[in-house]
Amino acid sequence: MSLLSVTEARQRILARFTPVQPTEIPLAQANHRVLSRDIRAGAELPPFDNSSMDGFAVHAADTVDAPVTLPVVADIPAGSYPDFDLPRGQAARIMTGAMLPRLADAVIPVEDTDFTERAPGTPAPHQVTLHKPVRAGDSVRRRGADLKENEVVLAAGRRLRAQDLGLLSMLGVAQVPVYRLPRIGLLSSGDELLPPEMPLLPGKVRDANSYTLAALMDDLGCEVVPLGIASDNAADVRSRLEQAAAANVDLILSSAGVSVGAYDYVKDVIVSDGELSFWRVDMRPGKPLAFGQYKDIPFIGLPGNPVSAFVGFEVFVRPVVEKLSGMTPRPRPVTRVSLAEAVDSDGRESYLRAVVTFENGRPQARLAGHQGSGNLRSVVLANALLIIPSGVKSLPPAAEVDAWLYED
Ligand code: AMP
Ligand code: MG
Repeated sequence: MSLLSVTEARQRILARFTPVQPTEIPLAQANHRVLSRDIRAGAELPPFDNSSMDGFAVHAADTVDAPVTLPVVADIPAGSYPDFDLPRGQAARIMTGAMLPRLADAVIPVEDTDFTERAPGTPAPHQVTLHKPVRAGDSVRRRGADLKENEVVLAAGRRLRAQDLGLLSMLGVAQVPVYRLPRIGLLSSGDELLPPEMPLLPGKVRDANSYTLAALMDDLGCEVVPLGIASDNAADVRSRLEQAAAANVDLILSSAGVSVGAYDYVKDVIVSDGELSFWRVDMRPGKPLAFGQYKDIPFIGLPGNPVSAFVGFEVFVRPVVEKLSGMTPRPRPVTRVSLAEAVDSDGRESYLRAVVTFENGRPQARLAGHQGSGNLRSVVLANALLIIPSGVKSLPPAAEVDAWLYED
């Protein structure tokens, strides 16, 4: 059986998924959620000409011969509506963010006047002396300068950030159209696995993948439905897959139990109750990959070794979750890094755990310990995955490769 390229495997998997349904949620809950519709400005911003300084609203033409003294005929705090024409030759005290009175075309900051009182509650003076001239538009934030009515300000498929929420509020969007969270059933399998709270027994190991994979999905904003650890028998596997079906998950993600071992029951159950393709992917770690469906629920079976499961998630599952979430598809950003040491590969597309440091501003990569697929510590030490292309068996020091960098 020939090896399937990583790109081909990823495309086949992605083709099976479409975004989950849209819904609406309160703005205060929308951080990190994915927009399901374009957001257009319902009105322009700022909504009215307003002052960018605490000072005095004037006619710029009255200030050309500054210093000049003008009577102060009004006081305009933020939030008030100055529904009058400012006559020529007169000034109005105005606060930052307050609407300009009609006909006023500039604001002179209080620092450039003889009025230096700052204490809260200080009444406006009867007159003010301006030390310098101002030009029309000075210290004025023009209506519509930031965005025009009906402009698309946030596009569908965007994962919302803190500043986006502020802008949505400014636009009066109190209920935000977003995709619901993808719901993912997560299964570990193997009679050797114990949860972390159990004492270790001879021949057993503790379950790493349930925790790593759940956390990766949590970071991506999924609802994880834990299906626990399936024993190596068909009945237990089946009852856990049934739990996933009852919970209406969008994807079942499992690790282990899908290779060619005599106890790989996950594979058997999926084959009998659904459909399974079993692929050998041209990658290392993580060559065996299972993809199919349990009943009509998409199923991805990652290899059991903890490093393989991690890398398999990054390569295949992350893009699936992004697509399910409704995010606009984009290739993952890569950084070109320079090898600080020679690197060997076996000719498959290799995802090596590495530590990237910046030396004189240039990224340099060293391997993070031995690259065995059970050595989860290498992933813990690493801040990057180096991608050694298929067909390459060794690279000398200073060779450049692509890397996925992780935030520290
Ligand atoms: P398998 O895919 O079942 O052949 O498992 C491959 C290797 O991964 C074996 O050494 C398993 O003990 C190990 N393994 C499987 N699942 C997990 C898990 N959830 N956590 C840690 N190691 C695991
Ligand atoms: Mg097993």
